[in-house]
Amino acid sequence: MTIGVKKVSLTRTTRDQIFLPAIFEGLLTTAKHFFKNTLTPGMGDIETIRYGDPDVDVKDYYPDRFRGVHRLMYREDGSVRCVACMCCSTVCPANCIAIEAEDRNDDREKAPLSFVIDELKCVVCGFCVEACPCDAIRMDTKEHMQPTETRAEAVLGKVDLMSRGGPSVAVQGGVSPDYRAEAPKADPRFSHDPR
Ligand code: SF4
Ligand code: SF4
Repeated sequence: MTIGVKKVSLTRTTRDQIFLPAIFEGLLTTAKHFFKNTLTPGMGDIETIRYGDPDVDVKDYYPDRFRGVHRLMYREDGSVRCVACMCCSTVCPANCIAIEAEDRNDDREKAPLSFVIDELKCVVCGFCVEACPCDAIRMDTKEHMQPTETRAEAVLGKVDLMSRGGPSVAVQGGVSPDYRAEAPKADPRFSHDPR
């Protein structure tokens, strides 16, 4: 089979090139939603999350699958679960995980000598969690990355990541219970399933 090349012309009209019509169309859409939401009777009763309101004595709600700041899990003996297989750093589309491996001294596995995530580069896709074969990295901290003034503050190392961690119930290299089974359930104030 011969693979050919199909040339596609990119025709830009004057209207496309000056951008103004598109800008006004966007503003018109915004204005339509603004007046609809403010003038339609009953629209003020829509239930929303009062995020960050200090007067509301309700803990901020996060969906079960909210992807927060990363954490590294550890084994029963307190050592890091990570075996430095590099699956997470390989799959990461933002290339923001850097791992340096060392021997674990048990003749079988490796461990991360250093494990660094640049949270400013992270696009919060969760691929690293999905790729990990031994439940060593999670994003279930329900914690936002804090605002930082320098990039260095947003680069989390092994100690930072393990300080958020906890013992994992997963069987290293085997079938294990679903850790999400014990996760907090959806906020009862909302009848819809947030997932
Ligand atoms: S969440 Fe995505 S972008 Fe962030 S570290 Fe994991 S794989 Fe990389
Ligand atoms: S966190 Fe998981 S996927 Fe990443 S290197 Fe460690 S064991 Fe491999």
